[in-house]
Amino acid sequence: MQRWKPGCGCYLEETVHPSGKKTLSRVLAKCSVHASVPDSELYAVLYTAPDSETNLRLNAMRTLLEDDALAETKVEDGQSARVFKPGVFIEHNWVGEGRGRVLRVRVHGAPAGFETRLRVVKPRTELID
Ligand SMILES: [Zn+2]
Repeated sequence: MQRWKPGCGCYLEETVHPSGKKTLSRVLAKCSVHASVPDSELYAVLYTAPDSETNLRLNAMRTLLEDDALAETKVEDGQSARVFKPGVFIEHNWVGEGRGRVLRVRVHGAPAGFETRLRVVKPRTELID
């Protein structure tokens, strides 16, 4: 059993299975923006659905990290990872309520004329200037 605070104000208790898979045990608290989501759907909205808020955010970050205009590969102790270049950082917030919240992403420090696939390929994700 572990507890998870996704950052919106919701508070959940999860069961971690031996495989590493997590399932919802119970909803401990719901924030105001997710108040309209039934308890039985909250975990999908936040975490498990392909277009869950967690997946939208991870997919957006992954897409931006794949972009050589913004990020580079860093090798440390034989492990490589994509990191944003110095001066580049990403700000995000959520717009709306319930299960259809839209992720708004702002890229700071991008080179002039920067374009990203994030604009076209991601559902419920907006890039703002
Ligand atoms: Zn919430």
